[in-house]
Amino acid sequence: MNAKRYVVLSFDVDGETLWTARDAANWNRPVTLSQGIYGPEVGLPRILKLLQKYSIPATFFVPGYVIEKHRAAIEEIVQGGHEIGHHGYLHEWPDTLTSEQEREVFELGIDRIRSITGKAPAGYRSPAWEFSSKTMDYLQEFGFLYSSNMMDNDEPYVHDNGIVELPVQWYLDDAPFFLYSVRLPGRTIHPPSAVLETWQEEFSALYEEGKSMVLTLHPQIIGRAYRVKMLESFIQFVMRHADAQFITGEKLACLTLKAT
Ligand SMILES: [Zn+2]
Repeated sequence: MNAKRYVVLSFDVDGETLWTARDAANWNRPVTLSQGIYGPEVGLPRILKLLQKYSIPATFFVPGYVIEKHRAAIEEIVQGGHEIGHHGYLHEWPDTLTSEQEREVFELGIDRIRSITGKAPAGYRSPAWEFSSKTMDYLQEFGFLYSSNMMDNDEPYVHDNGIVELPVQWYLDDAPFFLYSVRLPGRTIHPPSAVLETWQEEFSALYEEGKSMVLTLHPQIIGRAYRVKMLESFIQFVMRHADAQFITGEKLACLTLKAT
């Protein structure tokens, strides 16, 4: 068992594409789009400031379109020394694409990330947290180090084809607690105390078992003022544990490979 318990703060910088991928008609709904724009333009700077305050390296999964549209904002992520991972081009859901379309999305996303970081991404997060029958093959073909999508374990592991998996979970995601829109029926907004309690309880339980943890966050959701305060409380909670360490997805994937 590794003495260190690693925590990955991962941020899916979806911007407008969170909304347009669900319904193309949202391209013509400026108010709905504005909810997405808040992410890279307002939430993201607040998050980067918080990460800098505590010297925490993090991973940002960014669709290619968001890199084009909000380039200056995304450059700040790179300037901060953080990792940028693949998250589609227009936040396409792989399970709805043909093989050819999916290949094109992989290529476009890699190209846009390369244009801003100078290298191909190591990590892939599916915009739908779902794969097509081809996704795993494409990850291998395009030379990805890791995927962060599956829910079949708490801990990182290595797939048969050598791709590392950094597992995720809905309760370790800000969206089920906070994502709200009249266009998404049935959703309610939870108080930050409930979210903080959930994440702290899970961290403590995993810490006891010597396991790592991956949080999936969205600047347009967690980046609201009071929620960033809650995230800061969580960071402080983790930092009170001597064997806990924040790390990027790429680093954790490397360590996972080394350990196997
Ligand atoms: Zn997303």
